[in-house]
Formats: sequence, C-alpha cells, structure tokens
Amino acid sequence: MPGSPDGSVLPPASFPFPRYRAGQAEALERAREAFAAGKRFVVIEAPTGAGKSAIAVTLAREASSAFVLTNQKILQDQYVTDFPDLALMKGRANYDCLVAPTHAAAAPCLAGKRFPACDDCPYFTAKDVAVAANVTTLNYAYFLAELNYAGGFRGRELLVLDEAHNAEAALMSFAQVYLSEAQLLRAGLDLALPPNLGEELLFEFAEQLLPELKRRAGEVDAELAKGSLQSQAAVEQLRVKQWLETQVERITILLDSYYGGDVDWVVERFRGREGEVLLFKPVEVAPLAEPFLFAYGERVLMLSATILDAPTFLRSLGIDPSEAEVIDVPSSFPPENRPIYLRPAARLTRHHLDRDLPKLADAIAELAARHEHEKGVVHAHSYKIASYLARHLPAEVRWRVLTHDSADGRDAALTRHLTDDAPTILLTPSMTEGIDLADERARWQVLCKVPYPYLGDRQVAARMERDRDWYDWRTTLAVVQAYGRSVRSETDHAVTYLLDADFPSFIKRQQRRLPAWFLEALR
Ligand code: SF4
Repeated sequence: MPGSPDGSVLPPASFPFPRYRAGQAEALERAREAFAAGKRFVVIEAPTGAGKSAIAVTLAREASSAFVLTNQKILQDQYVTDFPDLALMKGRANYDCLVAPTHAAAAPCLAGKRFPACDDCPYFTAKDVAVAANVTTLNYAYFLAELNYAGGFRGRELLVLDEAHNAEAALMSFAQVYLSEAQLLRAGLDLALPPNLGEELLFEFAEQLLPELKRRAGEVDAELAKGSLQSQAAVEQLRVKQWLETQVERITILLDSYYGGDVDWVVERFRGREGEVLLFKPVEVAPLAEPFLFAYGERVLMLSATILDAPTFLRSLGIDPSEAEVIDVPSSFPPENRPIYLRPAARLTRHHLDRDLPKLADAIAELAARHEHEKGVVHAHSYKIASYLARHLPAEVRWRVLTHDSADGRDAALTRHLTDDAPTILLTPSMTEGIDLADERARWQVLCKVPYPYLGDRQVAARMERDRDWYDWRTTLAVVQAYGRSVRSETDHAVTYLLDADFPSFIKRQQRRLPAWFLEALR
C-alpha cells in the first residue's frame, strides 16, 4: 500500500477520502482478501463513526458493477450527497407522472400506453441512468420488488447490504401477505374473509383468491383499454391494477413455499383500521434470501453496527458460515464520552408493569431534573409506557416532553425536537434505529425497558420457539441500536441510563453478544 510523507498508509483512488479512519484500511484489505479467496459473503461489523459507507463505496467502486442497498430513503440520499458518482433510484411513487395527475406508481404506462411527454419521464430517466451506472443505490423494498418482478436491472458483481441486520425484516415485509375486506372491495371483489377455523382453511382461501385476483386484473386491464387513462378515475383504476398484480405475486410465493414445504407461515386474523384483516407471515425468511435477494450479486458485502451474533445472523439469512468472512472494526469513541449507567428503578414485566410505572416516572423525573438544560431522549419501548409517562411526569418536566401516540406522529415529534431551542425530551417507543441525535440533540438518554420483541405477534412467538438465540439476538440488537443514537462522533458525548430492573441480569446473560465497546462503557 502507498505511504504518505508522515508514514501513514494512503488510500487508493477508489477510497472517497484523503485519509483512512481507524480500522478502515484493515477492514478493506481483509474484505478484498476474503473475496479473492473465494468467499461469497463478507460481513463487516463496524460501530457508528467507523465510516461504514466509505468502506461500502470503495468496494463497490472496485467491482465492475454494484448495488448498494439501504433500509431508508434518507440513507440513500446521504449516499449520493457524500458520493456523487453513485446513481440514485427510488420507488415509482417518488416520481411525478407527466401525463396524468399522479405519480409513476399509478401512471398510464402501467396499462401499456405511451404518450409524447413520456420521453422526458422523471421515473424512466432516473431508471435509465441507474441501470447504466456502475454503482446504484436503492432501498431494500424497491430493490426486492423491482429486481424480482419488473424488467431493467440485472444482477451485478457486488451486492452491498447496508444496515444488514435489517435484511431479514426487509425480506419479511416483501413476502408477507396483507389482505383486508376493504382492499378487496376497493379492487371490485366483494368477498368476505373466512372465519378463523384453522390455518388450513385460511390457506385454502388464499388458493381460491388467486384466480379471482387474476380474473379481476384482466377485467381492469380491459376497462382501462377503453378509457382515456389520464383522468382521476383512470388513476384509481391503475392503483387497483397495481394492487391486484402485487397480491398475485405475493400469494404465488406464499402458496408455492407453503405447499412446497420450504417455509412455515403463521396467519393472523384481526380487525384493523381497514376492517377485517388476514395477515400471512413467514416464520423464517432464510429459504427466500438466496432466490429473492442474494441471487442478484455474485458476491455480497454486508455492513452493520449490530451483527452481534454472527452465527445467528448468518442462519437468519440461510448463509452457510463456511461461505462467509466476518470482520470486526473496533470503536474509536472514548468510553468516557458515552457512559452507560445501570439504574434499576422498576420491574416492567407484564405482571409488574402497572404497579411499577410510577417508579419509572419518578426515576425519569429525577434524571430530567439532573439534565435540566439539556435535550434528551427516552426510549419507552411501548406506546403504553410512553402514554403513561406523558401523562404522569411532573409538570416541570412535562412541558419539555415531545411524544407521539402512533407511527403517524413520529416525524413531527422528531422534527420539533431537532428544531426547538428548549431542552426538549423526545419520548418515543419507536426510534431505537435510524435517527441521529448528535451533539446537543441528546446529551442524555434513557432505555426504560429491555426491548424484548413482542410475543403477541404470532410470527415472533413461533420464531422464538424454534430459535431462542434469534430472540435474544434481536433484543440485544435493539439495546445496542438505541445506545448508538446519541453519540455520533469521537468528540460527541452523552450519558445513557438503563432503568428496567431486568437490565443487570440481561447484560450478564448477553455478555457474549454485546460488543466490547458497549461493555467497556458500563459504569
Ligand atoms: S412513462 Fe409516461 S405515463 Fe409513465 S410515469 Fe412516465 S410520464 Fe407518466
């Protein structure tokens, strides 16, 4: 490797910055060696601040062609802002249609029609650039739908999965089938969902529904062929057509894998916002990862701050450990800048929750007083806990609290926390991942409860029953992700408090999964 006058190693042209951060050169070298030695999968576990994106982009540029997948559109934007040679491709709904009052996800071209204005179509222009580019960034949801069901993109030499601990959830969302009576009615199918008299009956219903969906899609096509396609009514029909076609694709995977015996499924039947709902979820997605995701890369690079338990992670995606190289990058953030204090204040198991919520509120009130002039974040774990705290914290703390009672209010609460000059406290059950509370945005944070996945979800319960390691891994992952929200650079600092009385024994049990940089911060 070339050296600089001061003796440090100089990065190659494919690396996007003039200097390496600690651990980057070694991680890159080991990844190159592993691929050269024939490994198909390289997993890099690198904490916040290690420069994962630069590692991903370097290896993507060194390949003849690559995809870089992220979990969120905002991270895609970050990639192309930081590395402008990457092409950006988002889902159709992000691009306006030029010939009808809609976006490209419900546009007349879906019915096979073209118009003169289509030559300048924002969606297809972006797609042409993205297909031709050497490195393209997409989000998981669009990638899975587009590569598996639409034309244009082909497999590439390198498939990069950023935030790879989310790949399993992305496959789960891609495969699950959600059917409501309201959706069926909107699509012109006046069908009642069957009563929950056992799983077999529900799968039989899915089997009988499939030809109905295809028949109705054919009818909608015929209706669209007669109309102008540019009216609001046509846009609605195009949405119906898209929905019908997506359901046909998903139910086909469901039935093939269920009757083929490759995947076990759970079915939930409940009353939701859209009336009666049937939800089919795969218990595991490992058998789906190769055909629907990995098949589009000759080699696969996976990066995350929270791999934590490589055997369980690899198993969750059906990867043979002998085909994978796992590389750890240490944290360069001083532990004294990010101390973790165990402050067991309340027992928050189902049996003790109501009794101990007042103790939790008292503990948080005390911490809020201690950090009177600083912004903070309280990870509540559930809406029930968040709602209790929002109502029962003392008035001198309550005025600082910004919270939300559903996923819809999440962004508004976060935006206000980030823009308000007051020492606000973000109280949330759903921001353990994907938010950046650097510097003054959070000088203290609280994890109220050990974030065990919800066992009322039949998929989670079935999964835990067959793989307890998976359940413990997902819990540990949520703790470490939440911890990572508030210290974002070597000079940043924030204090973390763990308040659930179960945290001390949880940490003891999960020593082998918790990264060294987490354990060294415990006080
Ligand atoms: S190709 Fe034409 S119809 Fe389709 S989204 Fe673009 S502008 Fe609209």
